[in-house]
Amino acid sequence: MSIEFESLVPLGRRGLIQATNLVVTVLIAVLAITKLVVMGLEHPPIPALFVVVAGLANAVYLRRGGSMDVVAWILVGFSLMGIAAGSFNTGGFAGSILLLAPLIPVLTMLLIDSRAAWIALVLVCLILAGLFALGLNGFVPENPNGPDRVRLGRYIVLTCLCVISTWVVWSFSAMTRSLLIKLDKQSNTDYLTGVLNRRAIESALSQEVGRARRTDTYLSFIMADVDFFKLYNDSNGHQAGDRCLIDIAKLICSCCERSTDFVGRFGGEEFVIILPDTDSEGAQRVAGNIRTTIVQRSIPYGPNNSDPVTLTLGVVSARGPLIEDIDQVIRQADSALYRGKNSGRNCAVAVVINDDEPNDLDHLES
Ligand code: GH3
Ligand code: MG
Ligand code: MG
Repeated sequence: MSIEFESLVPLGRRGLIQATNLVVTVLIAVLAITKLVVMGLEHPPIPALFVVVAGLANAVYLRRGGSMDVVAWILVGFSLMGIAAGSFNTGGFAGSILLLAPLIPVLTMLLIDSRAAWIALVLVCLILAGLFALGLNGFVPENPNGPDRVRLGRYIVLTCLCVISTWVVWSFSAMTRSLLIKLDKQSNTDYLTGVLNRRAIESALSQEVGRARRTDTYLSFIMADVDFFKLYNDSNGHQAGDRCLIDIAKLICSCCERSTDFVGRFGGEEFVIILPDTDSEGAQRVAGNIRTTIVQRSIPYGPNNSDPVTLTLGVVSARGPLIEDIDQVIRQADSALYRGKNSGRNCAVAVVINDDEPNDLDHLES
């Protein structure tokens, strides 16, 4: 039986790390202020102040879910400076507290369940333990070089800690970045066909509607539905149906040549294409090309595998300023598509939102 970390520590992993970071930062800040009050500006607690800045950067970093590289580097940079400056301190309580500084970036890394982060933490703890042992009077030979040797040991060990902390932050940033890219791609991609999913299409459409409005250019939108696809599934099975949808998606993509075009799967056997900066004539050409490409591919369906799979397409085009919202575009493409279905399928029906009467449609069959 595995025990959840959260059940042992009520704060949870994230809460625990944030709390520890806060305690370390506050401790060092109190130390810095006390030293400032007691000793005045003559001996400013520079190392401690560096580490306080690192702690604050760390708080921002955590609040942003560890996704801000700049803040991560401020964090590492200031920890490093604090540690380097601290290593030249004479020691004592201030020096010991500063040894906690490398824990700030390392603890940040523990926000993710990374083995590398845990190994780094163990290494840091071991090195810290070694450093404290080295600093104990009993371990330092009594000769005039003693204090210098302690300082040198501290300097070497702290440099090692900096390298480890930096490496952990670096690998964490790289890992977070690649995970975010992967997640973003997955959340926008249709699992079956690899084209954009409905979420991504709606967001691209709203972005392109905004652009067409700003630049006063045409925007076209095509909705394509596979004809009698239920019959295809019933005759060939759902797995063959899935393969057919993958083929259709590829064929549609091959007909959209511009890098600015978007192809997506809107639902079941419905695909959509966004054509920015494209008027009705251009969009009808693309729709006609998609329709004939599918026919030419001759994917057979039906009980005797005779008739080829076909598409019916609804095409809507409008000048940007005449578009009310994305719902209007989708609704009109949908109604054009259903007019195509009613007039016999395997065709493209185009509608244009007019200059004069925005909601009055020109009906063009192709
Ligand atoms: P129409 O020409 O009027 O569009 O007829 P149709 O049979 O294509 O339309 P209908 O809406 O009746 O059926 C759509 C079918 O698409 C239902 C379902 O069998 C099939 N379908 C939807 N999504 C998937 C999918 O992901 N995989 C497979 N294999 N089939 C799907
Ligand atoms: Mg349908
Ligand atoms: Mg259909």
